Amino acid sequence: MNNYQVESLAQQVAQVLCDATMQVMYPRYKDKLLEAFPGYRMEVAVGRGRATNHKLRKDNRLQKITYGRDMVLSKFSSRQRHAWTTSKEIRRRGYFRGEVSFMTLMVAVVLHEFAHAVQHAEGGRQRGSVHNAHFYRILDAMHRSDLPEQVRTYLAERIPMDRVAIAEQADIETMVASKQQSRDRAASRRLPAGTPLDGLHAGSKIMVKGRPDMGYYRVTRINKQTVSADSLEGRRGVRIPWDLVEMCGEDEGPATPPEQSDRLSVGDLFTIHGRPELGEYRVVRINRQSVRGESLNGGRDCRASHSMVVKSQSQQAA
Ligand SMILES: [Zn+2]
Repeated sequence: MNNYQVESLAQQVAQVLCDATMQVMYPRYKDKLLEAFPGYRMEVAVGRGRATNHKLRKDNRLQKITYGRDMVLSKFSSRQRHAWTTSKEIRRRGYFRGEVSFMTLMVAVVLHEFAHAVQHAEGGRQRGSVHNAHFYRILDAMHRSDLPEQVRTYLAERIPMDRVAIAEQADIETMVASKQQSRDRAASRRLPAGTPLDGLHAGSKIMVKGRPDMGYYRVTRINKQTVSADSLEGRRGVRIPWDLVEMCGEDEGPATPPEQSDRLSVGDLFTIHGRPELGEYRVVRINRQSVRGESLNGGRDCRASHSMVVKSQSQQAA
């Protein structure tokens, strides 16, 4: 099986997850959801990256669940699959009697994302508190019902498990690493010589023109017409047009915190600088001065300043 075939299998599986959501999960909760959000509709989609999530539009008229193709891809790998939240849930909460396999992970992710839809309908989601007690009450109840079996049957009839078995032998680590490399290459694209910002690259230190009060930033990505940058002083990151970029010398401004060039978002995994023994955390909230993380190895949750957070190279959790 070549890389292309493995990817298209992942795409195919992600589409089956979408179908299971609409065919098995949605009819079960339709009335409850409509009661909470009259006139709303539910949408499902396959995403190109890893991101797998549930979103409720601000006007409460649309809920959308996205299954990332690369989420499926990384779950072909018996090593990578353990980094995901669903994998942790199966082990910690005893879903499927603790059996982590490709199939149980696929069932688990369908239930997990749908539990977010129900959580919203019940008003159990507050900002910064997503995987809370309310969420797990819903998810636990789902796992005690016949839904896992129903979803599993649905998936088993539509996912070619013989091909999955072959994909599980593929070198997913190398595939994922080379995808990450090409993303990094895109991020470090330099502006063409002769432009006003000649020499600007990912990692350059900059300020926002005319706004010295905003302090110093480090470029994380150069986009077609804008530049994305992380604050070096614990503020929010910015995305500004090229003509607002003020290039700075490396020795200006505050010292560079470790590994600060990687932009962090909710769901990313990280470790705390200088404290490898604490293991990995998952970002649950990003504040102005700090990041709140949930321990992935059963430890206490943490709040760490931006400068102490080191983003992991493994995938986002979902
Ligand atoms: Zn979740």
